[in-house]
Amino acid sequence: MPEQALLEALVAEVRPLLGQGKVADYIPALARVSPHKVGIAVTSLDGTTIGAGDWQEPFSIQSISKVFSLTGAMMLYEESEIWARVGKEPSGHSFNSLVQVELERGKPRNPFINAGALVIADMLQSRLGAPMHRMLEVVRMLSGNGSVNYDKVVAASEYQHSARNAAIAYLMKSFGNFHNDVDKVLKSYFHYCSLSMSCADLSRAMIYLANKGSTLDGREVISPTQNRRLNALLATSGLYDGAGEFAYRVGLPGKSGVGGGIIAVIPGDMAICVWSPALDASGNSLVGTRLLELLSMELGRSIF
Ligand code: GLN
Repeated sequence: MPEQALLEALVAEVRPLLGQGKVADYIPALARVSPHKVGIAVTSLDGTTIGAGDWQEPFSIQSISKVFSLTGAMMLYEESEIWARVGKEPSGHSFNSLVQVELERGKPRNPFINAGALVIADMLQSRLGAPMHRMLEVVRMLSGNGSVNYDKVVAASEYQHSARNAAIAYLMKSFGNFHNDVDKVLKSYFHYCSLSMSCADLSRAMIYLANKGSTLDGREVISPTQNRRLNALLATSGLYDGAGEFAYRVGLPGKSGVGGGIIAVIPGDMAICVWSPALDASGNSLVGTRLLELLSMELGRSIF
């Protein structure tokens, strides 16, 4: 577990970088967030959470929700059913690419790009009566924060600018890989993305990934084997087409979102969340990546 003073020092070290990168503006509600925020929180297996900077301020978790969705699908489906519809390979394309879906006949490369997460959202829709309600229950349970909620303004903003995600979903439907009403699933998907959580909430919520799939009070969310596989997918595909660079610099399973958050896992030890809204060319938090790089170097920890 890092010392509080180390986290403070790392945040101070990256502050001069604030101003580099670009806040996502294709979702108007996200464009309004200040690029000068930066925070980090770490939760360890003994249950303590420490943080520095803006670590208690809620932000839009966006694609980090794809971890919760896949976890949900793993709870509800046989793995063979999931992998029949979604691949396990890095995409090498942008997170909202349409081209690959066409070329690969409606089967998305992995569950952590938009196409893959839309198929997973479709699967959740098929099995759950009220998927949005269930998702919220699970995320509140995992984070230990009963007031975590959807940001209706962000969800509505995404829905109003949903042309690309709708195109991806319809393209998959044309190949038979999308079973429910597209509009209904898009609404659920945008709500998952709109979850508003702080670094503290997210580092707590993700601790099961560092604890063989179980919460710290001993509830099995997914099995140890499923957890190992989920972490492998995070390491290879969690950062879109920046996954290789992230493995090289940070060396941990991780997942980013266009809200500027990134979660990372040190298996057997801790879950980390960083947040800074300005993004690099792959759509990953620029300052957040640097913060994780510095932390993993300081701790001398990497899975490689
Ligand atoms: N809600 C965003 C979208 O669908 C999520 C993308 C992301 O965080 N990379 O475009």
